[in-house]
Amino acid sequence: MSDATKNFTPPTLPFIDGEYRKPAAGRTNPLTNPATEEVIAEVAAADVSEAAAAIESAFNAWQKVWRDLAPGRRAGILFEIARMIRANAEELAVLETTNIGKPISDARDEIELGARVFEYYAGAVSKFYGQTIPVARGGFDFTIRQPMGVVACIVPWNFPFPIASWKVAPALAAGNVVVLKPATLSPLTALKLGELACAAGLPPGVLQVLPGSGSVLGDVLVTHPLIRKVSFTGSTEVGRRIMELAAGDLKRVSLELGGKSPNIVFADSDWKRAADTSPMSVFANTGQDCCARSRVFVERSIFEMFLDRFVDATRHLVVGNPMDTATQIGPLVSASQRESVEEFLDDARHHGSRFVCGGARPQCRGYYLEPTVLTGVGHGDRCWREEIFGPVVCVMPFDDESSMIQEVNASTYGLSGSIWTNDLRRALRVARAVESGVLSINCHNSVHVEAPFGGFKQSGLGRDLGMAAMEGYTELKNVYVAE
Ligand code: NAD
Repeated sequence: MSDATKNFTPPTLPFIDGEYRKPAAGRTNPLTNPATEEVIAEVAAADVSEAAAAIESAFNAWQKVWRDLAPGRRAGILFEIARMIRANAEELAVLETTNIGKPISDARDEIELGARVFEYYAGAVSKFYGQTIPVARGGFDFTIRQPMGVVACIVPWNFPFPIASWKVAPALAAGNVVVLKPATLSPLTALKLGELACAAGLPPGVLQVLPGSGSVLGDVLVTHPLIRKVSFTGSTEVGRRIMELAAGDLKRVSLELGGKSPNIVFADSDWKRAADTSPMSVFANTGQDCCARSRVFVERSIFEMFLDRFVDATRHLVVGNPMDTATQIGPLVSASQRESVEEFLDDARHHGSRFVCGGARPQCRGYYLEPTVLTGVGHGDRCWREEIFGPVVCVMPFDDESSMIQEVNASTYGLSGSIWTNDLRRALRVARAVESGVLSINCHNSVHVEAPFGGFKQSGLGRDLGMAAMEGYTELKNVYVAE
């Protein structure tokens, strides 16, 4: 076991009905610290029959305890979960960093974000209600938002703790129970969340955490008749399969999927600030970010100056040991993720793209890859079209606004993006025209706990965060009372 995890024992068993429970079969998944390539834990995988039992017992907990609990008590437990997360923040952050190689300062911020999400939805419980509606017939018409029952939350490995909290907190706040499936590579903080939530007073069975592979557990989580909604974040490919399976009994689904987000820089903007800040908008989390601004569109008159400054800022990024608080860029999550990114780089070389910086593995242990800046990329090339999910950016010039927007919108994705301009009318015009669920003007902030987050087109459907997420975990009932 590596030094960093010596103080914190990683959880290694599924968390079911309020306790860590050893699965009947002895199948385990080894977890490797991507910075050291050492195995840090062997996590037992739940099998299909254990998943089905966990779903049934979650349903019992919903009927017997959670569904009818007074809203004030539900809110109180969620506030207490936020407090427990903060009290255990360092353990959660270290587990995350050693598990997936995320820089420790980012991991600390993400644990705090998770706590704020629980607080936000704890507060929302008492401010979430239906409407009274004047209707044509005399009488009284009103709506109620009702919980659905058991919700399956399936989350990826790139932001394990925040994305779990984005789903679990609003689902519980709306009165549902949750079966949470973390990614095979990153189960540690999800398991710990189950334990902390129970210690905070969440009744056993209300949050079940099932580590294991998606190809084994996915079908039962999506097709079990007691699951009423599947809330998924991950790749577009798996999202599509979940939607197909969910069609069987018309399960509700929300899907947060891939992205290929633009970063649009006009000559009239504070382009120096854009150049200084843009590298972290794509290289943060080693580019393993659905919101990564991986295509930079720069107005031609400033292109060369912008590119020089952007590359200079990229060369100053601190790549290194993720446990060091100065580190900004850690390793990729796994050897195979690095190989997948390198295939994109091979394709770029083959098609004659110019590597302005990066493109190689640094000489050290761990799954590192240098932040890579490409230009001269063809609009049909893989690096321009596909989600790379690694530290690679394409920076290209544009001549006029309308053909640039056409190229931005030619992507099958539409998740996030930035627009840099000091012309307010242009900012609003471009923001309206870009087909994307989330945009930021003169900055790169995509995520606000209070505001909806999600994609257009093949970046998904439904929204996380804000009150939109909570509505998505309810059925809307209309009741008419005759006078
Ligand atoms: P992934 O699709 O491989 O896995 C996501 C989750 O689905 C994991 O828990 C996995 O075990 C599970 N899974 C795999 N096969 C399954 C199946 N057949 N049925 C049900 N579940 C299954 O994605 P990943 O590699 O973990 O994450 C990277 C992807 O996630 C990227 O495409 C990224 O853009 C996307 N992502 C999107 C957002 C967003 O909010 N839009 C946020 C983060 C990541």
